[in-house]
Order: sequence, then structure tokens, then C-alpha cells
Amino acid sequence: MSKVKQPGNLLTKDTDYVWHSMKPYNPEGTMIVEKSSGSWVTDHNGDRFLDGMAGLWCVNVGYGRTELAEAAYEQLKELAYFPLTQSHKPAIQLAEKLNEMLGDEYVIFFSNSGSEANETAFKIARQYHQQNGDNSRYKFISRYRAYHGNSMGSLAATGQAQRKYKYEPLAPGFIHVAPPDTYRSPEIEGTKAQDLKSVQDVDRVMTWELSETIAGFIMEPIITGGGVLVPPEEYMAGVQEVCKKHGALLISDEVICGFGRTGKPFGYMNYGVKPDIITMAKGITSAYLPLSATAVKKEIYESFKGSEEYDFFRHVNTFGGSPAACALALKNIEIMEKEKLFDRSKQLGNQLKQDLASLLLNHLYVGDVRGKGLLIGIELVKDKATKEPLETELVNKVIAGCKKKGLIIGKNGATVAGFNNVLTIAPPLNIEEEDLAFLTRTLTEEINAL
Ligand code: PMP
Repeated sequence: MSKVKQPGNLLTKDTDYVWHSMKPYNPEGTMIVEKSSGSWVTDHNGDRFLDGMAGLWCVNVGYGRTELAEAAYEQLKELAYFPLTQSHKPAIQLAEKLNEMLGDEYVIFFSNSGSEANETAFKIARQYHQQNGDNSRYKFISRYRAYHGNSMGSLAATGQAQRKYKYEPLAPGFIHVAPPDTYRSPEIEGTKAQDLKSVQDVDRVMTWELSETIAGFIMEPIITGGGVLVPPEEYMAGVQEVCKKHGALLISDEVICGFGRTGKPFGYMNYGVKPDIITMAKGITSAYLPLSATAVKKEIYESFKGSEEYDFFRHVNTFGGSPAACALALKNIEIMEKEKLFDRSKQLGNQLKQDLASLLLNHLYVGDVRGKGLLIGIELVKDKATKEPLETELVNKVIAGCKKKGLIIGKNGATVAGFNNVLTIAPPLNIEEEDLAFLTRTLTEEINAL
């Protein structure tokens, strides 16, 4: 469908001057995105693409929402900046709103990115234990295959060695356990939480590492970037129990799972738990402006009160919680609530998962179709008996084939180091049903063409 138009010299300049986040698999070269509307983006050739990944799982209310631009513009005129060493109305209002969504027990620290929100959580957790005289609690447990960010602490928490080994040594004190993988090592649904092997592993590791050294456990309710791993229903509650037993804080990384991605306001709400700390970014502004937050249970916050000046939480963030980003986030949440996008994500996600499963599970290479809400993964394998990951070239062929037909999807997995054999789908939560039908049709055609 590409009808190459004059790209000017932008592509050359891009190659000369822009260092991209990752080298994308894109046989046609870099795509310069110029315009967007709803779930669609338009590139420099004038070609339109359905964005089946909502950017990087983040444009939850879709593109082209002028109300969001206006909210930021109005706020910038009124008050462009003041540091949150003091306060301003948009930050107060947003913190109040988040607190209401979370169930009225949290205090909010604002930053700009998911990585920073997680770093903030780690520092708060360590200092909290110290405030309580627990000076030996510094370790964090996280899971293999999870992604928690690009900075030295959040990358240390990340459980994907292939992203880390060139940058070692990272922050010390991070230990990993295996996540539940209901496809490769199934655990029986309905088993009591304490009987799940993956929960027992957390308990064992905390015991072996010595309870009194553990500061916290960080997890995404559903591992997203490591292959869309939906845990057994009882897993997160089981982990919370184990954390309580060992005196560790439970940190829920909601950077992707938050703001409706899994069909609930926050991912943990699927699993009947109340995390001690909740980190969020991406969907908080639907990525229209950078903003992230670390929500901390009030009792943890209270332990910081009354400390000497020297002992305050010594953590400053210049841009975190900027007035325009907070005002925009409030408008973004208002849109999500008005348009009932959390329910919509649940309903459309269920339908999409069912459709994809019935269309694809008979295919030679489709091992599993899984997800919750508009967060879906399709695991491609070479052999359904051995579950050996499908070769990268074939996975890339599906992605490139979809792109040629105007559909963007993603891939990740880290099933075996270096293998990203899970196709990912995470469109805007307000995606039109006909667009979803196009996504299903196109993806099915391309997988069937393998
Ligand atoms: N946590 C999770 C679960 C993520 O997916 C990401 C980013 N994809 C991060 C943290 C880090 O967020 P950021 O890129 O905004 O620093």
C-alpha cells in the first residue's frame, strides 16, 4: 500500500540525528508518524495504520482528544510550573482523584516515568523499614521475565537478562523468582493460593534470603512485556500473604496494567488484594504528557511524619507532577469514566480473546491465546508438544505482513533469552468494533499465511 511520496530529507535527518529507543523491526525503514486520530496513525507517506499497541501500551483514550490538549493549554497559561516541594491545585486534585480510585488509603508521590515511579517505590520502602528500626531490610524480590524500567534500580528489578547484561553492575539487592506461566508450567486453577508452586517459591526465597533482609516484592498483576503472563486467579493474593508473613511490602507495578488495560481501573483489582505501594504511568495521561505516580499506603507515609529535617524522604523530582500534566491526567480520567472505558476494555477484550482463540488455536504454530481486558498475547511455537518458541524470522513475518496491510501489533516474550515469540495486542480502549474486526481479520490472515 506504500505509495512513496516525497519524504523530504526528514528520513535522512532522522538517521543522522535521532537515537531511537530500540531498533524496531521495520523492513521498510523508520516510520515518521505525522498525524493521528482515534486508534489510527498516519505516516509521512500518507499511509494509515491501526495502532494495535496504543503506542507502547499507553494511549488508552485514543489519539486526537482535543479536550486533553485544551486542559494542558489552559493550565500552562494559568501556572506553567511550580515544584512540588510546595503545592498546586492540579496535583492536589489529581492525588485526591487517584486516591478515590484506589480506595481512599493512599498518598501520592509524582514523577515523570514508570522507571522513576518504581525507583521512588524502592526508596520509600527501604526508608520505611528504617523508620521502623528494621535497618537490615534492603532486598527486593521480583520475577524473571518482568520488565520494570530502564534505570539502574528498575532495571535491576527487571527479570530479562538480555536487557541487562551489558550494563552490569546494576543496583545490588534485587533477587528474582520464576513467575507463574500457565502455558509452559501450568498450575491448576482453583488450587488454594498456598498450594501454588509459584507462591511457595516466593515463600522459600524470602526464607532463604532471611525474612529480616527483605524490603519488598514488586510485581505486575499480569506480566506484560515478558509475554502477557496471566497468573492463576489466586496467585497475587497468595503473594500478598507471603509478603505479610515475611514483613515485606507488596508493590504493584501498574505502569501498563493500570487505567483500564486489564478491564479494571487497576490490574490488582482483578485479584482481591490491596498492595502497599502502587506505581503507575503510561495510561495516567494516555501518554499525552509524561507523568507517573507512586501511591503509598497512608500508614507507610505516616511513618515519615515528624522526622527531623535530615530524615525526610530525601527525593526530589523537578518535573514530577507538573501542573499541565496533572490537569491533563484529570481530564483523561474524566473521559475514561464518562465513556466507561474500563468496562469496555473488559468486554471487548473478552470478545477479542474468544475470537482469536477460536480462529487461531487450531493453527500449527499457535500455542496459546491469553490475556485480560484489551491486553492479549498470542504465543507462537514451533512445536506444540515441546513448546519450543517459533523462529524470530517467522514471528517478524507476521508483524511485517500486518504492517503492510495497515495494522501495527507488537511482540515480546523473553520465553527463552533472545526469543520474543509472543505477539501482543493492546489497542486504545475506545477502539471501534469495526477496527477490532479489521485487527482480528488481518492478524488471522497473516498467521494463516505462515
Ligand atoms: N514498568 C512496566 C511494567 C513497564 O512496562 C514499563 C515501560 N514499558 C516501565 C515500568 C517503565 O516505564 P518508563 O518507560 O515510563 O520508564
